[in-house]
Amino acid sequence: MLHMRNLASGSSGNSTIFWTDSSVILVDAGLTALQIRRRVEDTGFDIEEIDAILISHEHTDHIRGIEILSRRYGIKIYANEGTWKGIEKSKSVKKGVENRALLKDDMLFGDIRVESFPVPHDATDPVGFRISSGSESAVIVTDIGHPTSYLSRIIRKSSVIVIESNHDIEMLLNGPYPYYLKQRILGPEGHLSNEDCGRALEDSIDGDKTVVLAHISEHNNTPELAEKTVRSHIGDGAELILTGRDPGPVLEM
Ligand SMILES: [Zn+2]
Ligand SMILES: [Zn+2]
Repeated sequence: MLHMRNLASGSSGNSTIFWTDSSVILVDAGLTALQIRRRVEDTGFDIEEIDAILISHEHTDHIRGIEILSRRYGIKIYANEGTWKGIEKSKSVKKGVENRALLKDDMLFGDIRVESFPVPHDATDPVGFRISSGSESAVIVTDIGHPTSYLSRIIRKSSVIVIESNHDIEMLLNGPYPYYLKQRILGPEGHLSNEDCGRALEDSIDGDKTVVLAHISEHNNTPELAEKTVRSHIGDGAELILTGRDPGPVLEM
C-alpha cells in the first residue's frame, strides 16, 4: 500500500513523504533538517529510514535541508544534472551536498517507482514526479508556470494529484509584491493561479481521485479562495485537501 503525507507546503518550505511497507522517500526537503526530522518522526519513521530524497528544482523552498540531511544522516539526494548545477550556485548550500546521486527519468526505490518529467518553471531543469507502487499512484507538481498536455495525461493515470494552486490573480495584482515579482509569478514559467489549477484538473478528474492543493501563497491567496475556485472547475466528486505550513493528513492510495 502506497501512502503519502505532505509535511509542509508553500514558499516557506516544501516536503512530502511517500512510503510503502518496505521503502520511504521524500520529495523535496525545503524546511531545515531539524524540522524535517521532527515531521518525519511525527509520521512514524526514523530519519535514517529514508531511502532517498528527490529534488524537483533548486529553489530554496525545496532544498533548504538537503546539505545537513545528507551529511548528518547519510541520506542520498537525487537531482538531475541541471538541478545539481543550480544547487551548486544556491546560497542555501554552503559546503556542498554529500551523497549526491543523479536523478533519472524512471527509477525504483524498493517497491516505489519514481518517474520524473519536465515542467515549465524558472529553474535550471525543473521536474514533476509520478510516484507509484503496483497499481497505486500519485503525481506531484508544485511549481509550474502553466499546465502541459503531458501533465493532463499523468493526472488521468493517478489517484492522488498534488498540484499547485498558488495565487488568486486579483489578489496578486493588488497585493504587496513588487512589479517584477508579480510578472515572474504570472509568467509562463512562474506559478499556477487557482484558475489555472482548476482548468488543469477539470477534464481529468473523477470522483475516485483525491486532489491536494499545494504551494498556496500566504500573501496572494487564501485556502478558501483556492478551494472555491478549484471546486468550481472540478465539481463536488473528488476529495479536496488543502496544504500549508503544517503537516497534512496521511493519504492511502
Ligand atoms: Zn520554484
Ligand atoms: Zn516552490
